[in-house]
Amino acid sequence: MSPGSNDGRLVRIIGGGLAGSEAAWQLARRGVAVELYEMRPEKPTEAHTTSDLAELVCSNSLRSNSLSNAAGLLKEEMRRLDSLIIRIADACCVPAGSALAVDRERFAEAVTAAIEALPSVRVIRKEAGEIPSGMTIVSSGPLTSAPLSRALASLLGAEHLYYYDAISPIVTAESIDMSVAFRASRYQHDNDDYLNLPLAREQYESLVAAICAAEKVPAKSFERFIYFESCLPVEELARRGRDTLAFGPMRPTGLTDPRTGKRPYAVLQLRQENRERTLYNIVGFQTKMTYPEQKRVFSTIPGLERAEFARLGSLHRNTFINAPCHLLPTLQWRGRADLFFAGQITGVEGYIESAASGLLAGMNVARFLQDQTPVTPPPTTALGSLLAYICDPARKDFQPMNVNFGLLPPLDAAVPKKEKKQLMVERALRDLEKWMSEIGEKPVERVGFRTLGDGPVP
Ligand SMILES: Cc1cc2nc3c(=O)[nH]c(=O)nc-3n(C[C@H](O)[C@H](O)[C@H](O)COP(=O)(O)OP(=O)(O)OC[C@H]3O[C@@H](n4cnc5c(N)ncnc54)[C@H](O)[C@@H]3O)c2cc1C
Repeated sequence: MSPGSNDGRLVRIIGGGLAGSEAAWQLARRGVAVELYEMRPEKPTEAHTTSDLAELVCSNSLRSNSLSNAAGLLKEEMRRLDSLIIRIADACCVPAGSALAVDRERFAEAVTAAIEALPSVRVIRKEAGEIPSGMTIVSSGPLTSAPLSRALASLLGAEHLYYYDAISPIVTAESIDMSVAFRASRYQHDNDDYLNLPLAREQYESLVAAICAAEKVPAKSFERFIYFESCLPVEELARRGRDTLAFGPMRPTGLTDPRTGKRPYAVLQLRQENRERTLYNIVGFQTKMTYPEQKRVFSTIPGLERAEFARLGSLHRNTFINAPCHLLPTLQWRGRADLFFAGQITGVEGYIESAASGLLAGMNVARFLQDQTPVTPPPTTALGSLLAYICDPARKDFQPMNVNFGLLPPLDAAVPKKEKKQLMVERALRDLEKWMSEIGEKPVERVGFRTLGDGPVP
């Protein structure tokens, strides 16, 4: 594709994955013409295996479909906003308990057929090597091709485009045992930014042994290059020697346990993750342990026995931009009002989060073309809270984030813990509907949760 101006009415979308397909659908249903650039099959990525749009590159699960889970809440919000991805996922689902899992081939084929059937959308099977002028959505995903990555690096500054993520687990504040944790920063006795979980020698050694023995996700061949000495997975540090962690991220120097008046043998530090202090990040614990193993191993740490994990750790090949510096919560680039970003490249993490950001980008581009102000859902909704997180200009050391209840603002009144999520969900859906009516969006009739997938495909 060569750059150049378009007539201002045509929208170019780069990347026909989950975000790009959803954005194209949202634009088409608002009568906007789209050119959707997808480089496959002409140029493959390291993970996709077909030429279908919206191919799921790994798991066939779109995570929980239950309203007791933030991923389920996000899906419900997307249903009400007429998401194509969720509509087709509902129609192609396979039994998976409370999760929404799909027949991946049927799913991607149905999305491709639905997009290709739209008269106002032209799918162009070509790599985009530059950022065009005019209305554009960049949704080229975690495996953005090299020429486009170079163009993005020169647009944003090379230091604002990342090629892998190193994610430490995040736990909710209320699930940390505060009778074990103490607040302190190393050497700064008047600073309480961190929570610290002290470990005696035997506790530390059994943690190291458990980390070494835990099952790991094998690195894909194209991911082998990503380990940098400053950002090694915790299991690699544990493998290097029994005390490597105790001299690394778990070093106790500068910390005194106020309950014993002594320096612990090792310390697990938890750093505040959001302004509301509802989430804490386990410092230096990026890992490729499988998700169930992370839950099992980290729950053996004194103070984390009942930990609720808002995000689990990972290390991935992942192209994403420094969204807190560059994006408005409307998904517009701060430097150019007609350039939008959507999908994993914005720093949201996960299939549905990517599709949800595509939904908002499509909606906002249509509003922009109709001289309406781009919008963002209230922070009390799942989508609004995720966007508020990734686009918060005060955020430092940005790493991708998935949707979770810890991102939602606390409720106004104190309520019993078991009622909290339900009240947050009710507030989210009430606020979403109010917001939709304020911006003139008609809610879509609820499809309901199905468990078997023979429903109609649009
Ligand atoms: C290996 C891997 C496994 C993952 N597994 C999971 C998982 O199991 N569950 C989960 O929730 N999330 C997973 N993710 C994270 C993420 O949710 C998915 O990558 C998701 O597909 C992101 O959606 P997207 O639309 O942003 O990108 P994609 O779905 O990747 O779509 C981007 C599209 O842009 C195209 N493209 C790239 N560059 C160009 C260019 N220059 N010109 C034209 N087209 C271009 C690509 O071919 C691709 O089709 C995984 C990511 C990776 C890399």
